[in-house]
Amino acid sequence: MAVFLTRMIPEAAFWRSAICEMQGRQPCALQMALIRLFSGQLKSIAIIGAGITGLTAAFHLKRQGIPVTVFEAGPRCGGVIRSARENGFLAEFGPNTILETSPEIPDLVRDLRLESRRLYTDPFAKKRYIVRNGAPLPLPSSPRAFLTTPLFSAGAKLAVLREPFVARRRDDADESVADFVVRRLNREFLDRAVDALVGGIYAGDPGKLSVRHALPKLFEQEQRYGSLIRGQIFGGRDRKRRGEIPRSKAPMFSFDEGLQVLTDALAAELGEAVRLNTAVLKAVKTAGAWQVHCENGLQEYTAIIYCGTAYQLAQLRIESPGLPDLSPLGQIRYAPIASVVLGFHRRDVGHPLDGFGMLIPKIENFKILGAIFSSSLFPNRAPADSVTLTSYLGGERTPELAFLPAEEAIGLTRTDLRALIGAAGEPVFSRVAFHRRAIPQYNVGYGKFKETLENVEKSAPGLFFAGHYRNGVSLGDSIVAGAGVAKVAAKWSQAANRT
Ligand SMILES: Cc1cc2nc3c(=O)[nH]c(=O)nc-3n(C[C@H](O)[C@H](O)[C@H](O)COP(=O)(O)OP(=O)(O)OC[C@H]3O[C@@H](n4cnc5c(N)ncnc54)[C@H](O)[C@@H]3O)c2cc1C
Repeated sequence: MAVFLTRMIPEAAFWRSAICEMQGRQPCALQMALIRLFSGQLKSIAIIGAGITGLTAAFHLKRQGIPVTVFEAGPRCGGVIRSARENGFLAEFGPNTILETSPEIPDLVRDLRLESRRLYTDPFAKKRYIVRNGAPLPLPSSPRAFLTTPLFSAGAKLAVLREPFVARRRDDADESVADFVVRRLNREFLDRAVDALVGGIYAGDPGKLSVRHALPKLFEQEQRYGSLIRGQIFGGRDRKRRGEIPRSKAPMFSFDEGLQVLTDALAAELGEAVRLNTAVLKAVKTAGAWQVHCENGLQEYTAIIYCGTAYQLAQLRIESPGLPDLSPLGQIRYAPIASVVLGFHRRDVGHPLDGFGMLIPKIENFKILGAIFSSSLFPNRAPADSVTLTSYLGGERTPELAFLPAEEAIGLTRTDLRALIGAAGEPVFSRVAFHRRAIPQYNVGYGKFKETLENVEKSAPGLFFAGHYRNGVSLGDSIVAGAGVAKVAAKWSQAANRT
């Protein structure tokens, strides 16, 4: 009877809390007490990596009463997310904003009770600039604005009208973004717009990025609707049914003290379940469990969720019968980036900064990839009468610039900002962060890496993969992936606890 109870009570508590989770309610105090009391009976899940993906997965599992341990190699939680306030300036050294494209994103903010600290971007900052002939020009936001914009020539505008009549590609080739855009639109669109846009998302090279993997929505529009324009018009209904919000309409947000508010809140909820400075070196499948080996010993878990990076995964020793070789994942390229955050007196910047920021195509020959007008997006990013600008150097275009000494990185950025937006005075604030391996490149051939991950999951039950190297590179993708992998692993753990 005692054995029956100790098995049934945590299971019942688990299912009640899962139902609460599905209904968007918090489990009640009694349920949580039962979960806590009996969680020792449930085998625990190991999560490798305390970036946004790993923390989100761990948070969802913990809310369902499943014990978790999060292993983080570094000294802090958050992965590439890092915000710092100094002298009234708020610097984002990694990502700046989250696009609210799926319900899991606002749900997470609500569950963490962070709604009062969330800041949506200022409607004043809606414009997106693209540089042409050395000047930032607004990206047209309506068909009418498109017809009159000086950003594209008459030839490029005609290419858009012609696009619905361009035949769909029917072979299975893994086409690059550049080839796709030139085939469906024209070279000018690639050089003047898409090059800048993929620079803003991937810091990538459109000649190398795979359209199928890097821009799957565009790929799908051609496959399903035969055209990008038709996909825009008719795809809306399908997106609505899937609960998706198109990127162009999705609200964008951060928090009063930057994005680190989110990962700090997740880390606080997880408490002692997070082990910092604890790299996982090896994972071994045994008869009924997974052993996780760190420098200071090993522990057993019912499952492992890997939420680290592709290059660290390639180095992790995983022992399980018939496991496919994971070392090729080390070939996934990561673009290096230097984030340069500068503060200026408002009077020293000529441009109205009435937008999100500006993207710069390669053809324009500037050093920075683009700049975010951070203090226009959110009101509290700079002291009164000052502005904060966040610029990026490096990427696949000029990787060597991401490794310059900080002073040189600041100097190059200032030269470009002076020419582009009249940022003429001395900066009153300057910080640089270097990401040697910032953003994974879903280049042509990336499909084989995805296949490897799927094959490993099939051959090693209880081992799961989620994160930017697999599920998309945006924060929204990571939050959705973290919530999704938690559901799958919870089901697995539940079944494993029954056996
Ligand atoms: C400069 C920059 C700007 C960006 N801007 C935006 C933006 O504005 N909006 C947006 O949506 N996205 C942006 N992104 C992308 C987004 O930030 C990332 O894709 C996302 O944060 C990745 O989160 P993650 O948890 O998957 O990985 P990471 O944040 O990389 O976390 C992985 C963690 O796993 C740990 N780890 C790895 N292996 C092990 C191991 N063996 N043992 C223990 N720990 C391990 C690592 O130490 C790391 O902390 C930007 C990225 C960068 C770099």
